[in-house]
Amino acid sequence: MTEFPQMSKLTGSKRATQFTESVIREMTRLNQLYGGVNLSQGFPDFPAPPEIKAAACAAINDDVNQYAVTWGARPLREAVAREFTRRYGVPIVADEQVTVCCGTTEAMMATMMAIVDPGDEVVVFEPFYENYGPDAILSGATPRYVTLHEPDWSFDPDDLAAAFNDKTKAIIINTPNNPTGKVFSREELETIATLCRKWDAIAISDEIYEHIIYDGQQHVPIATIEGMADRTVTLNGLSKTFSVTGWCVGWTISPPSLTGAIRKVHDFLTVGAPAPLQEAGAVALALPDSYYTSLAAKYQERRDALIAILDRHRFTTYKPSGAYYIMTDIGTFGFADDVEFARYLVKDVGVAAVPGSSFYKTAGAGRTKLRFCFCKRPETLAEADRRLEKLVVADVTLH
Ligand code: GLN
Repeated sequence: MTEFPQMSKLTGSKRATQFTESVIREMTRLNQLYGGVNLSQGFPDFPAPPEIKAAACAAINDDVNQYAVTWGARPLREAVAREFTRRYGVPIVADEQVTVCCGTTEAMMATMMAIVDPGDEVVVFEPFYENYGPDAILSGATPRYVTLHEPDWSFDPDDLAAAFNDKTKAIIINTPNNPTGKVFSREELETIATLCRKWDAIAISDEIYEHIIYDGQQHVPIATIEGMADRTVTLNGLSKTFSVTGWCVGWTISPPSLTGAIRKVHDFLTVGAPAPLQEAGAVALALPDSYYTSLAAKYQERRDALIAILDRHRFTTYKPSGAYYIMTDIGTFGFADDVEFARYLVKDVGVAAVPGSSFYKTAGAGRTKLRFCFCKRPETLAEADRRLEKLVVADVTLH
């Protein structure tokens, strides 16, 4: 007689086996292994603003070292509410609508778990930020994908309408968009809003790149579209705007009817975000508008620099209107697929990028795509340029 039944229970859950480790984070590990220039995972390689670092240090020295209120320290929640109202004219009540989480990643997970029941459908635009796949699995949602078509990453309104039905609980929007750089227009958001109202669905809007927007485009939060304020959860955080991705401070702005559920899930997932960093967050959100203008202007220069580099090295590039990624097509390089090309690029050329298939669920989609990020010092981009010289030689050899 065996001691254990045939099927051992010493395995991960069914849920956990349905998704793989993050390819984005894996590329950073591979980059460290090979000593590459990391244009994969989206985090800056330059310092955060000094005022914010000083505020975090001051908070620790002032002994703000114990738990904040689970749904967020008052100064940060008040600042989030104040800024959204000031910018977009939608009144937000911090006590009823703002929940601070451990980064926007947790904000998304907490929101999904708070509002989705197994069997509920959630509409997701494809390509999508990698995390939304596992978020759907962990919350039990059934994703319904709607394609964003290159080169401008537009969607067919009929496809979108066909993805909604009476099981649709929510749609995930990410504008400015990772990985495509698309900025959803007011008209597109109105199309989405009409469907949300028709099917009584919630918009979960990840606006982490709100301030990273180019060419005079305007960011439109879907919560500002008529009838959407009370059916939208807006997600944002400090990471991208203030170059502090490792702080993991994010938040949700939700209608009061959903806040209680989000706060409960958040509380039992993480209790709360780091207290001293929340104090620094309130300082960050009080920076003048010139901070945001300068952030976008600097990123626009880096976007243009990386586009020029990638064009020169014969990638097909899709110019982003926002966020800090460039999607490229690598179909002409003659590799079997994006993963093979990305591995070759980090190992032999010394530049890390993210395989396009990480952003698609549809089999085979993304196999000719590669995403580069440009949230890096100009010297880093120049070094990537130098290393990519090797690509030409390899290209000729491998054809
Ligand atoms: N959003 C960033 C990216 O897409 C990184 C996010 C993360 O790794 N948590 O690369």
